[in-house]
Amino acid sequence: MMPVRVGIPRALFYYYYFPLWKEFLEQLGAEVVVSDRTTKEILTRGLEHCVDEACLPIKLAFGHVQNLADKGVDIIFLPRIVSVAKQEYICPKFLGFPDMVRQNIKNLPMIMDTNINLRKRKSDAGIFAREVGTAIGKGSVKSRLAFWQGQYKHKGYLRLLEQGLLPDEAISVLDGKERKDKVSDTDLTVAVIGHPYNIYDPFISMNIINRLKNLGVQVLTADNLTEQMINQGVKQLPKKLFWTLSRRVTGGALYYHEKGMVDGIIHVAAFACGPDSMTGELIERFIRREGKMPFMNINLDEHTGEAGIVTRVEAFLDMMRWRRAIV
Ligand code: SF4
Repeated sequence: MMPVRVGIPRALFYYYYFPLWKEFLEQLGAEVVVSDRTTKEILTRGLEHCVDEACLPIKLAFGHVQNLADKGVDIIFLPRIVSVAKQEYICPKFLGFPDMVRQNIKNLPMIMDTNINLRKRKSDAGIFAREVGTAIGKGSVKSRLAFWQGQYKHKGYLRLLEQGLLPDEAISVLDGKERKDKVSDTDLTVAVIGHPYNIYDPFISMNIINRLKNLGVQVLTADNLTEQMINQGVKQLPKKLFWTLSRRVTGGALYYHEKGMVDGIIHVAAFACGPDSMTGELIERFIRREGKMPFMNINLDEHTGEAGIVTRVEAFLDMMRWRRAIV
């Protein structure tokens, strides 16, 4: 019997959970298909089908869903993510995403939109595992075991990120590819802070991470920190943040700032993102008040020009090098 082909969009939570989902689905006997890397065409198709008010990453994810449909998958995997951490929530746009897709794109394959809600207990992930397994025709024990194997893979993935790898590099290492040595001739270290689906997508981020690397910069992100470090960073705020993504972004920036581990911080935000405008403001105020290191905010939208970003990034690096020379 041919395995069921399950499509995972290379968007939204792909950069956090792809190794877990892939392992889980493969252990259930599925063949995993990933959408192509973002191109202008994928973004354009997303823009055509999504409501204007949505943020850029959601519009882009629409394009990735259509790309998967073109690949003839049997199922598109779009878990309805409510919460991935105790007492915290994910942005409501994640929650409504599967419905928005169904509403706006016709003739799609089956959409698997099983709930993930770990707000009360981490162990509620077992409910998700069982429901996905059942939809693929597997029993409860097999599904739990497959999910456990996925979680094991995920732990290995997080360890690679904590060693300084970025998601694409860590995913290739998990796939058995050779690990590349760190570039040693860097004179600056910069933290690029933003949602994974913005900073790691080379098209949407104007390739900011690789640009920095090519300019002799070592790049760190919040995902290179442990959960403990992120929580230590965010503790500097007077109030708890109950949005997981905002907590990670803010905690990461404040930790790098507090420890002086980087020469500067670039915050990357998406146009029309409510949480980003709040966290960007919080981080900026905090860092500028202390005056310990340069900070730059980049806003991405579908019209963002590459030339403008390049000029700003180069000026930012010049400023850091000049600052270093005079201190
Ligand atoms: S956090 Fe912001 S960018 Fe992410 S899905 Fe929500 S509104 Fe969009």
